[in-house]
Amino acid sequence: MQMIDPHIHIDSRTREDLASMATAGITAVVTLTYYPHLHLPITSQTLLDYFERATKFETWRGKQELIDVYVGVALNPVNIPPDYERVLAAIPKYIAEERVVAIGEIGLEPGSQTCPDLTRQKEILRAQLKMAKEYGMPVVFHTPHLDKETWVEQYLELIAQAKVEPSKVVIDHADASVTKKVFDFGCNVGITVQPWRGLRPQDAAKILKDCDLNSVLIDSDCNITLPSDPLSVPKTALEMKRVGFSEDDIKQVVFKNPVRIFNLA
Ligand SMILES: [Zn+2]
Repeated sequence: MQMIDPHIHIDSRTREDLASMATAGITAVVTLTYYPHLHLPITSQTLLDYFERATKFETWRGKQELIDVYVGVALNPVNIPPDYERVLAAIPKYIAEERVVAIGEIGLEPGSQTCPDLTRQKEILRAQLKMAKEYGMPVVFHTPHLDKETWVEQYLELIAQAKVEPSKVVIDHADASVTKKVFDFGCNVGITVQPWRGLRPQDAAKILKDCDLNSVLIDSDCNITLPSDPLSVPKTALEMKRVGFSEDDIKQVVFKNPVRIFNLA
């Protein structure tokens, strides 16, 4: 079955990982902005170089293993350089590029080492939601690991204030505590299956039983910093089959939903 992983960080995965993903049926990915920065200073130029690498090099690298690479650009709350305004100003230029399909990942993160000031983070989030509204771009929210309900409530309020179309929004790293709230608001739920989160394919299949299958995504968030699994999506698809989801339901979740939400060719 053809599958899409709609939240990865491709720059941190090897060519062999990409080959395994393709072998397991992944034909496309959306790679989002996250610069592995612990113990490193970052500047606006770091992120602009990263956008260049994602759009020019990683798209090519994916193609070598028959994976279509789409890109999300953003100021990730964990990657806020002192001169972040320069990055904000450059985002519209990238949004216009063919392979850029989203603004993400954006959000609030209390553990940010580059910008612990949540008021500043909120300002930056508002600026990016304004762009999403102006350019009609899908957005992907990062939800912090603890207290998900509190963060998601703040997100939904900010989305309403910015008048962003809820169907273009993914609230990612969601768990069972927030799925109903997100669906009721009209946004999409992203479930991140990742060893670091302790969320296994079996757990995802359980959460999916109570989900609107037209508005949910499964992703790996595979990165270089935290224990991750580039095969999270195919493993979850297999687990869905094991517990009795139909082929149509599985295809809806792992293929049709990302194609629709990110308007993929
Ligand atoms: Zn991520």
